[in-house]
Amino acid sequence: MAGKGDPILVVGGGLGGAAAALALGRKGFAVRLLEQAPEFGVIGYGIQLGPNVFPMFDRLGVSDAVLAKALRPNAVLMVDWVDGGVIARIPTGESFLKRFKRPYVVIHRVDLHGVLLDACRELPHVELIANCGVVSYEERDSRIHVRTEDGRALEGTALIGADGLRSTVRQQMLDEGEPRTIGYVAHRTIVPMNDVKFDVDREDVVLWSGPGVHIVHYPLRKSTLFNIVTVFKTSNETAPSDTSAPHPDLDRVYRQSHPTMKALWAMMDLSRRGWVSSDRDPIRHWSRGRVTLLGDAAHPTLQTLAQGACMAIEDAVCLAELIRQSGGDFAAAFRKYENARYLRTARVQFESRYLWDNFYHVGGIEREVARRTWSVRGETEMFDCLAWLYDGFALPGQTGAAA
Ligand SMILES: Cc1cc2nc3c(=O)[nH]c(=O)nc-3n(C[C@H](O)[C@H](O)[C@H](O)COP(=O)(O)OP(=O)(O)OC[C@H]3O[C@@H](n4cnc5c(N)ncnc54)[C@H](O)[C@@H]3O)c2cc1C
Repeated sequence: MAGKGDPILVVGGGLGGAAAALALGRKGFAVRLLEQAPEFGVIGYGIQLGPNVFPMFDRLGVSDAVLAKALRPNAVLMVDWVDGGVIARIPTGESFLKRFKRPYVVIHRVDLHGVLLDACRELPHVELIANCGVVSYEERDSRIHVRTEDGRALEGTALIGADGLRSTVRQQMLDEGEPRTIGYVAHRTIVPMNDVKFDVDREDVVLWSGPGVHIVHYPLRKSTLFNIVTVFKTSNETAPSDTSAPHPDLDRVYRQSHPTMKALWAMMDLSRRGWVSSDRDPIRHWSRGRVTLLGDAAHPTLQTLAQGACMAIEDAVCLAELIRQSGGDFAAAFRKYENARYLRTARVQFESRYLWDNFYHVGGIEREVARRTWSVRGETEMFDCLAWLYDGFALPGQTGAAA
C-alpha cells in the first residue's frame, strides 16, 4: 500500500474526479480532491448508465449501492417527432441482461455522486476540499504545486485534471482555447411524476427525435420523478451561449410536433440558460510528466451515446490500476493510461458526432431512410451494434472485455 503522506491531487469533484479519488483511495493512496464549487455533487438531473460501467463500480465497491438507487427501464426507444412511431428500440430488460451480463440503468446524478463521495468519506486518507478552484500548476523538484483562486498553495506527488469540458489543467497543458460548439443547446428539468398529467411513456428511456431538436425523458427515484432533457438548435451558431432564441426553423418543427412533445416542452422553462453542446477533437496524448487528464477534460463528447460519465469512470479505474502497477513512476503510468484509453474514448467521440448529425436530428427523406433502416432491426442486431461499447473495457492486465 502506498503511504498516506504524499497525496495525489485530483482537480474537479465531478463524477470522474470522485471516481478517481475513490479508485486511488481503495488502493491505499492518499488523495486530495479539489472542487471549485462550495459543495460537492449538486447537479440535480438524471443520468443513464450503460452496462459497461458496472464492472468499474464492482472495482470501486459501489455496485450494490448504485443499483439500490437506480431504476431499470424496459427499453431505450427513439420515436418520431410527428407521429410518435418507433424508429429504433433497444430492449433493456431480461434479454439485455442476458446478453451484456449487467443492466442498463437511470439514476439521479445527486444519488450517484452521493454513493461515490460517501465511499470516499469512509477512507481517512481521501480528503474532499470544496471551495478550492485551481488556477494553475507547476511541476518542480518531482512534485506538483498548485495555486488556487483564493491564493492558497497546495502540493502533491502527481496531479489528475478531472475538471471537465472547460478544464483549467488542460488549458495550461495544451493551450487550445475553448471547446468546439455546434450550435445546439440543452435544457434539463425534473418534475414530480404526479404533475405529469398527459399520456406519456413513464417506464422507458424515450428519445423524441426531429430535425434540429430532440427530447429525452425517463423516470427517476422509484418513478416519483420525471427527468426531461430537450436539445435544440440555436439561432446564433457563432455565439450559442446566447440561448434566448431557438432556431427559426424550430417554429415549423414545433407546429408539426406530436402533442406529447408539446406537452413535454410546456413543462420546461426554456427561458433559463441551457448547456451549450460542445466537444473537442480526440487526441492521443493528454499527459505531461506527473500531470494527466480524465473524463471530459481529456475527451469531451456529445451526449448522443449517453457515455461521457461512463467513460470518465472507466478512466478513473484504469488510471488507478496503472498508477498502482507503476511503483511510483507516474509519467510511465500516464503514458500507459492514455494508450489504453484513447481509441475507445475517441470512438465514443466520433460515433456521438456521427449519430448527432446523421441520425438524431435529421429531417425529410433522411429521416424516412433512418426509420426504414433501423425500425426493422431485431434485438440481436441492435445488441451486436452496441457490443463494442457495452461489452466493456478490459483493464490493463485483464484479458478480454471487463464485462
Ligand atoms: C445534457 C447532457 C446529458 C448527458 N447525459 C449523460 C448520460 O446519460 N450518461 C453519461 O454517461 N453521460 C452523460 N452526459 C455526459 C456527462 O455529464 C459528462 O461526460 C460527465 O459529467 C463528465 O464528468 P467529469 O467528471 O469528467 O466532468 P464534470 O462532470 O464536468 O465535472 C468537473 C468538475 O470539476 C469542477 N471544476 C472545474 N474547474 C475546476 C477548477 N479549476 N478547480 C477545481 N474544480 C474545478 C467542476 O465544478 C465540476 O464539479 C451528459 C451530458 C449532457 C450535457
